Order: sequence, then structure tokens, then C-alpha cells
Amino acid sequence: MEGKIKRLHSMLVNKEISAVELTNKYYRYIDEHNEKINGYTSFTKEIAIAAAQKVDADIAAGKEIPLLAGIPMAIKDNISTKGAVTSCASKILYNYSPVYDAFAYEQLKKAGGVMLGKANMDEFAMGSTCETSYYGATKNPYDTQRVPGGSSGGSAAIVCSDMAVYALGSDTGGSVRQPASFCGQIGLKPTYGAVSRWGLIAYASSLDQIGVLAGSVEDAAIVFDEIAKYDDKDATCVDYDRKPALEMLENDIKGMKIGVIKNLFDGLGSEINDAIMKAVEVYKSIGAEIVEISIDQFDLSLPVYYILACAEASSNLARYDGVRYGYRAENYIDREEMICKTRNEGFGIEVKRRIMLGNYVLSSGYYDAYYKKAQIMRGEISKSFTQAFKEVDMLLCPTVASTAFKLGDMTKDPVEMYLTDMCTVPVNICGLPAISVPCGYDQNGLPVGMQLIGDKFTEGRLLNAAYKYEEKEHENMYRKPLVGGECIGL
Ligand code: GLN
Repeated sequence: MEGKIKRLHSMLVNKEISAVELTNKYYRYIDEHNEKINGYTSFTKEIAIAAAQKVDADIAAGKEIPLLAGIPMAIKDNISTKGAVTSCASKILYNYSPVYDAFAYEQLKKAGGVMLGKANMDEFAMGSTCETSYYGATKNPYDTQRVPGGSSGGSAAIVCSDMAVYALGSDTGGSVRQPASFCGQIGLKPTYGAVSRWGLIAYASSLDQIGVLAGSVEDAAIVFDEIAKYDDKDATCVDYDRKPALEMLENDIKGMKIGVIKNLFDGLGSEINDAIMKAVEVYKSIGAEIVEISIDQFDLSLPVYYILACAEASSNLARYDGVRYGYRAENYIDREEMICKTRNEGFGIEVKRRIMLGNYVLSSGYYDAYYKKAQIMRGEISKSFTQAFKEVDMLLCPTVASTAFKLGDMTKDPVEMYLTDMCTVPVNICGLPAISVPCGYDQNGLPVGMQLIGDKFTEGRLLNAAYKYEEKEHENMYRKPLVGGECIGL
């Protein structure tokens, strides 16, 4: 299916609309719809108009423009954007404007991308509901009584309601794929090391990865190709042979071996189960070979993830002390009290919980029992995936075992919220790429997502498999949400 980016690109090139007109059209649409969704933490109109004017000047001068030139997008609020507030949706960074751009955003900027604003998120990307933001919760465009998922809930809701064409998010344990699933969008989490983390404000550095939210597989591939470039500023970025995913979309998938992770299906709601099994049938009908597979260590991933993520977070977030940047408390008698008050007033409850958990598992006496054991298990989980990829080309399972939660349902019991990350966290633990693809709706009209998981650096193949599914199923995959969804009516 042709996505919005290529269609808008030809409208721009054929002068049916100018980039400035397109940008303004999106801002007017945002004015109409954002109040109900609260998808943005801030707007960057000056930056957007300047970028659009440059694209218009290039078109007027007869220059060839890149596919992403003039295309409006949103950037998650934990991805650094020079001169534009990057707060991680936290009070502690409410006034922080970075002095440099994140590498991924810089690539989009170079390609003429137009950033409309910063996307709402769970504070410091910790959460699955987008409710812990200092700027208030984002709502699901399919049902505003429900969450859009998290932590990249703003990015997903914005793309879903067409308040931007695509968005960047970040995925540490599912934060691109889970909101994509809840909002009926494509969510691509690249391999650890495929996209530079330079300028992505760290939550858990060994798990974090910047990803893409888009309304079609083609759009996701275009954006991925643009941001997945080698960057020596991130020591974990891998210099591998980067073939454009866009050129692989049409490849035949006959004979592709897809492993359905059967041991994950116990306890699944019947509507999710039915939607996933239907998707499996679609794959069979287009020539994929389906095999059942079980990944032994899958369920151990959840405790491993929450130990490692909290441990890393407690260390990464130690830098917010009110000294160098961000919020600083008033009325203190000495430096220690200033730091304590700043952190106490600046961080929300979920962030504090994770810092405390992280300090606990790293403290002497508990380090061996928790952190070290979790690291050992991380290796074991990776081994079971390596084994699986000897047998199959990719794995298929639900993205989440449910559709979007009601607002407030998960904040009552954090452990219940953590449990919902079961299908997404193993991917981060092993540094693998995965994509969430809409594959049906429940009886309330809420989207269901399936997840395809690949071996390292096989994004092209995952996008190819998702594209072939979309080619067959696009009429059943995408529905207009209740709020917004057709700014440009393409
Ligand atoms: N829900 C997970 C968490 O709260 C994942 C978050 C993420 O991927 N940023 O840690």
C-alpha cells in the first residue's frame, strides 16, 4: 500500500500544495483536535515554518527534494531538539532546551523534515499508559476514556489522529510497539545499534532504542532508512551493511518461515487470540511457512527487564540534581537539601519508585541476588532466541495481551501494569528488531496488534513481511479513529 509520505511528496513536487501550506494545515488540524487528545507537550512552529520555507525554496529553484522534505512530523519529548524544550514530560526538565540535536532527528532535519512539536510520553519513558506525564495524560483517539499506551503514547496518538504524518518514539521495553498496537499504527523498534542513541535522553541505556510510528509500512520504512545510519558518537551504534528497507518491501515472502510463539497464547483473551490466528492464516495464504515454536525463557524476561531497567535508570537519572540544568527547588539551607528537595519535587511517583528499586537491586548485599542474576538470565534468554532463529526467519506473537486500558486502571497497581509488557520486553533484552502491525479490532472497536520479531539487523525483512500482510489486509487494518484521522484525507 502506498503510504502518505510518497503521496504528499508528489503533491509538493507537483506544486499542488506548498510545504508552508501543508504545515499550516496541520497546525489548524491540531488546533481542532489536540485538546481532546493532548498528544503534544510543546509546539515548534518557528522551526517548522523555517524548515518548510527552505523546502519551498528548493522546489522553486527546481532542486530535487528528498522524500521526507516538507513532511510534518512529531518527535518524542525525550529526543533532543536544539533550541526546543526537551523535557521527558518531567517537571525536572520542564525548562530544558538542548544545545544539540539528537542524531536521528538531525537526519530527518537534513532530509527537510518539518517538526511540528514534541510528543507527550510517560515521564522519562517509564510506563505503559502515557498517564505519568507532567503535562497530563494523552488520550486514545479511538476512545478518549482510554489510554493510547506508553510510553510513546503521544507519538502514537498524534499519528493515529493525523496530527502529524509520522513520529519518532523510543522503545526500552515496548514503548513504540505497545502504543502502536493500542492506536492501530505501525510501530518499528529497530535492532539495538541500528539507530544512534546520541541525544536520546537515557532511561536504560542497554535497552533504549529510537523507533518509528507511522500509518503505513511504507512510511515506516522510509523513516527508518533515514534515521538508521552509522554514528560514531554512539559507541553502541553498529557499522553494518545498511541496505534500504524501502527496496525490500515488495520481495516475495513465499517460503519465509514464521514461528508462532505458542507458549504465549495461554491466557490470551479470545478476541486477541482470534485476531492473531487470523493473521497467521493470512500469512499462510501468501506463501509463508508457519511453524509452532516455544521460547522457554520468554516469561523470565519480565523480572529480568524490571531489574535491569530500574538499575540503569537509577544510575542515569542521578544527573538531575538541580545544579546544571532543569528545575531547582527553592528555600534550602545547603547543597544537600537543595538536591534532595529538587529531586523530590521534580520527579513523579513512578520515576521515584524505579530509582528506589534500581538502587535496591544494585546495593551491596543485593547486587548478586538481583542484578547479577538478571544479567545471567539475560544471556540465557538471548540464547533461546538465537536458537529459534536457527529454525525460523522471524517470530510472530501478540504485541500486547489486551487492547487499550481505561484511563486510571493501571496506575492503581503498578505491578499489574508491568505484567502487560510481557510480549515486548524480551525483544529489548536481546537487542532484537520487532514491528507491531494492526491485525484487527475488538468488540469495542479498539485495535489489536501483532508483533513480528526478527534476528538482529533484519528490519528490511520484517518490514517486507509487514508490507505483504498490509498489501492483502489494508482494508481491515486501518479504521478512522473517533478523533481526527484525516487532516489531509489521503
Ligand atoms: N512499559 C515499559 C516500562 O515502563 C517500557 C517503557 C519503554 O519502552 N520506554 O519500562
